[in-house]
Amino acid sequence: MALLEIEDLSVNYGAIQAVRGLTLEVNEGEVVTLIGANGAGKTTTLRAVSRILRPVTGRILFGGRDITRLPPAEAVKIGIAQSPEGRQVLARQSIQDNLELGAFTRSSRAEMRADIEKMFGRFPRLGERRTQLAGTLSGGEQQMLAIARALMSRPKLLLLDEPSLGLAPIIVREIFAIVRELNEQGVTILLVEQNAKLAMQSSHRTYVLEAGQMTFNGNSADLVSDERVLHAYLGG
Ligand code: ATP
Repeated sequence: MALLEIEDLSVNYGAIQAVRGLTLEVNEGEVVTLIGANGAGKTTTLRAVSRILRPVTGRILFGGRDITRLPPAEAVKIGIAQSPEGRQVLARQSIQDNLELGAFTRSSRAEMRADIEKMFGRFPRLGERRTQLAGTLSGGEQQMLAIARALMSRPKLLLLDEPSLGLAPIIVREIFAIVRELNEQGVTILLVEQNAKLAMQSSHRTYVLEAGQMTFNGNSADLVSDERVLHAYLGG
């Protein structure tokens, strides 16, 4: 069953058409990858789904419900969480405070505290540093914190924007292992990645974007050796 349906979506920044007539779906239980060159419209698509950006045309459905005009905080409440490009952790706040921030829509403090402990169990490196300022963490640790912060709202759909950006290869593999693990635990994931090969190896299906439009899509296993992917990824 489709958890997320994007129909004929267009998003502009002033006169710039960043996304043009995009249609895609993410089924419950899937990991779906969006790949494409810089500026192809991947981040814009995620920001439209998390309701930070307002589409010009098109519809976004979540669990069959039209959320095209839902405020961003409501999107978090119904189960959509984003781990943004560049992590965007609050550098001068502790790890624990950053995680609390991710739980801003939750009403029970006791449950929130229990979930923070769960995150420290899942990401022991964060647990060992819970009072450390987020700005002093390594890039990989900040990425783990950004993912953990998104998970604090107990999302059904996790939007992951460039989780491997700027990280050493060994940490990149660790991040993708986390992606697969989260998915096995039932989180549906829409992933934007420059690291096309690893992303396809860790996802069920892939959509390729070029200049704001979807050019083709298919099973990740089939596309991983497709020359068109390389072409799109390198920007033609
Ligand atoms: P990248 O991998 O570089 O993040 P992307 O595929 O995520 O690329 P987007 O960030 O969605 O691409 O950008 C799509 C287009 O929209 C680009 O042409 C970009 O220059 C433009 N754009 C993005 N953000 C803004 C903004 N805040 N104001 C104006 N134009 C923007």
